Amino acid sequence: MTLTYLALGSNLGVPIENLRKSLKYLSQKMIIKDRSKIYETKPYGEVEQNNFLNAVISVETDLTAQELLNVLQAIEKKMGRVRTLHWGARIIDLDILLFGEEVVQSDHLQIPHAELLKRAFVLIPLSDIHPQALFGKEISEWISLTGNSDDVWLAEESW
Ligand code: AMP
Repeated sequence: MTLTYLALGSNLGVPIENLRKSLKYLSQKMIIKDRSKIYETKPYGEVEQNNFLNAVISVETDLTAQELLNVLQAIEKKMGRVRTLHWGARIIDLDILLFGEEVVQSDHLQIPHAELLKRAFVLIPLSDIHPQALFGKEISEWISLTGNSDDVWLAEESW
């Protein structure tokens, strides 16, 4: 079993319902260990769109990282996600942040997630459920280094 951390995000339809629904689908394929609070976040990038709701969960799985990515993409598809702009609005976005101690550098999969340390909207929920330091620094230090923690605020304590 590999302990892995997934980022969940939504800014279309009823975002909290989309997060709940994706959690239900994920729980059919893996063991959900823990979940962060939900945060509302300003969209990243230049595209004009609604704020996001973001959360991070930890799961245990026997899948490989590639199989896990396939499962996440199948759930995104089942939930009606249409791939448009890279930074565009989405019903659900599911990303692998960390996969045990594994490092993957392929064309279509990078683990740890390539943007992990740049995004307060990922690091802040991650710090709810991952109290340990990450790559030699406390997560709170990584959060202040992003310079974008003002764009993230608490939306829901439990969900
Ligand atoms: P996004 O639009 O942010 O969902 O990006 C989707 C693409 O990112 C997918 O086609 C994946 O192949 C790629 N990708 C690379 N690394 C990861 C990762 N750690 N988790 C999820 N998707 C990833």
